[in-house]
Amino acid sequence: MEGPRLSGIGMTSARTRERLVQRLQEQGIADRRVLDRIRNVPRHLFMDEALASRAYEDTALPIGFGQTISQPYVVARMTEALLEAGEVRHALEIGTGCGYQTAVLSPLVEKIYTIERIASLLGRARRTLRELRIRNVNFRHDDGNVGWAARAPYDGILLTAAPHAVPPALFEQLAVGGRLIAPVGPDGRQELYRYTKGDTRIERQSLGPVSFVPLLSGLQR
Ligand code: SAH
Repeated sequence: MEGPRLSGIGMTSARTRERLVQRLQEQGIADRRVLDRIRNVPRHLFMDEALASRAYEDTALPIGFGQTISQPYVVARMTEALLEAGEVRHALEIGTGCGYQTAVLSPLVEKIYTIERIASLLGRARRTLRELRIRNVNFRHDDGNVGWAARAPYDGILLTAAPHAVPPALFEQLAVGGRLIAPVGPDGRQELYRYTKGDTRIERQSLGPVSFVPLLSGLQR
């Protein structure tokens, strides 16, 4: 049975979501699979009810603990950038947050390994994804700077928090031919990059300016 959070209310209307999808298309998102996910993932379930009326606006919104749910455009762009160079089977995500990016990506890859340093957020994301019957996600409470070596290599890695430089462990855990998408740089001067790992070197391509919360160190309850 559906709980109240899953029931149909005005702000989740097909029309509101369609408007968001259209906006992302106008901004250049072209991958059908990604647009379908933006249309079908109920973003209002990933945030506080007090903010749910704004869930289908194309903005980042607070989720507590000084963190945010990412802007839909950025989630779409990162997902598209990860997938456009080829199929991804095993993906590693650093910064689960509320789990929205995880949910958007989940059916487009075989398995996602996701790491979050704030235990309360991880617990909440786990519950939301369970409620949505998303089952191919493995969660870990840890400092994402070290990655998740036991499950490496990954053919895709996503950072949803910005380091000053990509932690070397993450490049080590990336498969040859794999892609790593990350915002890099200090507050106010971040750039989204796609790194592609070759046999002998890592290639970097800029995908434009972005604004993410910083990648921090250590754990929080
Ligand atoms: N992916 C989320 C956005 C997350 S915001 C979405 O779809 O909306 C970034 C998240 O990264 C925050 O929850 C923050 O706690 C987490 N984070 C920051 N530094 C981290 C680290 N070193 N390891 C793991 N998670 C980290």
